[in-house]
Amino acid sequence: MKYKLFSFILGLIVLCAIIFIVIYQFGDKINQATNSEPVNNKLTVAATIFPLSDIVKNVGGDNVEVINIITPGASPHTFEPKPSNIRELQNVKVLFTVGHGMDSWATDLVDGIDNVQIVSVDKDIVLAPFTFGDDDEPLKPGMDGLDPHYWLSVSNAKQIAKNMAEILSEVDPDNTLVYQDNADNYVQELDRLQQDLMQKVSTLSSHVALITFHDSWGYFSREFGFKLAGVFESAPGKEPSPQYFKDLYDTAVDNNIEIVFTEPQLATGSIEPFIQDLDLKIYTLDPLGGIDTRDSYINLINYNIQTIYDAFSK
Ligand SMILES: [Zn+2]
Repeated sequence: MKYKLFSFILGLIVLCAIIFIVIYQFGDKINQATNSEPVNNKLTVAATIFPLSDIVKNVGGDNVEVINIITPGASPHTFEPKPSNIRELQNVKVLFTVGHGMDSWATDLVDGIDNVQIVSVDKDIVLAPFTFGDDDEPLKPGMDGLDPHYWLSVSNAKQIAKNMAEILSEVDPDNTLVYQDNADNYVQELDRLQQDLMQKVSTLSSHVALITFHDSWGYFSREFGFKLAGVFESAPGKEPSPQYFKDLYDTAVDNNIEIVFTEPQLATGSIEPFIQDLDLKIYTLDPLGGIDTRDSYINLINYNIQTIYDAFSK
């Protein structure tokens, strides 16, 4: 009898222990999901556009969790942050931005979050004015007349990687050597990319002239030796006027333009009559990537060079 009672009590204790463990584990999971505390001790950072997210992933490696804010297909020029964007940034310590009016909305996104740094990655990068510009167009908030599409030069991407390593090291000094090492390796990869692509475009005629959708290819074209003949949008998001179209038409004829380059993030409806009139072929350049074969910064630059190569070597 005594033995049975003992077994019963022992069984009860074991059962209680099991229930306690299950509730404890489950409750912990619920807790993690609701207050979205990091499930590990990784440093959480964010970047406004995909190319910056990918570069910081390479520099941060396994120590860093990266949130990419603008989903593929959207343009930073027309992006409007949603409450879900703010929620996912609660544990972010650094928000990497392009700056110069490209992603001024980033400030509002992290407004209520403590201890977050907003860092523009342009340190030690020489910025240039827009290639075409529009003196009549009032500058948007945060814009200074300088062209913010500087990540599209591979040389600049190397500097961006170094700048990111510096910031990550400041925020997480224990892993300084890791960040430096990762950045060095990534810069070497970018060196190889740059050499390969320079080699590739050297076989194209020196008269490659581009008409692109918006004025974002200045740094890219200077690096690879392309001439920019014109753009459809004189300012991001601005519909071209009839006079503007007429001038661009003359430019296209003068430069023997046969090809135009559109972009996946921007609507092209307004330029279709122009394209039909001149019987132009359309190719797509992508300044942002994040999808399909443009799923890394390196693949994005590769894609754009390959597109220009295909367009002009036919
Ligand atoms: Zn742009």
